[in-house]
Amino acid sequence: MSPAVLEALGDVVQNKSSEGYPGARYHSCCANIDEIEQLCQTRALKAFNLDPAEWGVNVQPMSGSNANLYVYSALIECHDRIMGLDLAHGGHLTHGYRKGKKKISMVSKYFETLPYYLDSKTGIIDYDHLETLAEQYQPRIIVAGTSAYSRLIDYGRIKQISSKIGAYLMSDISHISGLIAAGLVPSPFGHSDIVTSSTAKLLQGPRGGIIFYRKGPKHTGIGSVEDAINASVFPGHQSSPHNNTTAALSVALHQALTPEFKEYQKRVLLNAKALADGLIGLGYTLASGGTETHLILLDLRPHGIDGARVERVLEMLGVASNKNVLHGDTSAIEPSGLRIGSPAMTARGLGSSDFTEIAKFVDRAIGVTKKLNALAEEQAKRAGEKEPGNLKYFMQVIEEDANHKSMIRELRAEISTWIEQVTRH
Ligand SMILES: *Cc1c(COP(=O)(O)O)cnc(C)c1O
Repeated sequence: MSPAVLEALGDVVQNKSSEGYPGARYHSCCANIDEIEQLCQTRALKAFNLDPAEWGVNVQPMSGSNANLYVYSALIECHDRIMGLDLAHGGHLTHGYRKGKKKISMVSKYFETLPYYLDSKTGIIDYDHLETLAEQYQPRIIVAGTSAYSRLIDYGRIKQISSKIGAYLMSDISHISGLIAAGLVPSPFGHSDIVTSSTAKLLQGPRGGIIFYRKGPKHTGIGSVEDAINASVFPGHQSSPHNNTTAALSVALHQALTPEFKEYQKRVLLNAKALADGLIGLGYTLASGGTETHLILLDLRPHGIDGARVERVLEMLGVASNKNVLHGDTSAIEPSGLRIGSPAMTARGLGSSDFTEIAKFVDRAIGVTKKLNALAEEQAKRAGEKEPGNLKYFMQVIEEDANHKSMIRELRAEISTWIEQVTRH
């Protein structure tokens, strides 16, 4: 986030309690707080080009995760059904993740949940299968949204399915809200009843959540969607809002309306593409074959290595990435995917040619990982270990290499020198 957003986040409005909504507070002396929250609401609608007669917004949820729970609780009863993209296929925990009978996300404890999936051949959401499942399962809410998916979502297709069975369509745009605000990827608003988002990702705002709801005649059984959502946030789940977060979000949403923001989001897309092309050029396979968003999912299966090992080596090189489960994986501890996004390094001013260089560094890091992994296995075998492929031997060997030997130390120094050069303005 920008220094201006950070500054607002540390503002003294943090000290004011203000339960309720603008014009209807349970605490006195909230005139300034009301102004901040109303400004935030106005800017949120404007940032996503929404007509205030058609859409309303609640800016109080404390995170994207909470926002999702508040929506489910507002619209449906306990044990009503929800469908969302499976976690291992790119969905989010809060879309109802459970592992068989084991309820991992509490959403799956309060509600009944059934996942839908990617097409295992293409790596794209299997909309036809979703339709079949939804017709059988009859969920009350279908969630459209992803955390680890590099393709665009066909909201129109999911709307068609949700309409057919009379379910709400909730789109969770947490990852791509910045791209949507900038008008660079298809917007879900035309098709959705509800749109939720974390505000701390591509929107470049503070950690928080936001809920957009379509106004109108649709009733939940306990009142309008608007009333149900607002009552679910307060007093249903929260009391005093985090006013410093609201203030910071107002600043971020103001920035989202500037040409610089749009330019940044464009570069995010171009840079992710450059990273994808660079890796494909070096012989790598990407889940779904490429990217149309801000991230790539590297499929490490053909390289005989996993995301956990590569993530750790990259970490030792000073590079942040994210091991990621790919469909077909059985272990979340040693998954076969690696997720890399372009937003952070784009915010530091890097361009397409720099991302081509990053692809080369990732390739070299994978090479180092493979070498050290072979070394670890060899040592474990020599020591008579029962499971020489165990992750712990690898972790010991790379620790040694980073501290006393050469491979990681040298590459780390090279990356460090490079990044200093390319981020020097
Ligand atoms: C990150 C994310 C969330 C959760 O947002 P937080 O603000 O971190 O709680 C919810 N949904 C999706 C799709 C996400 O990617």
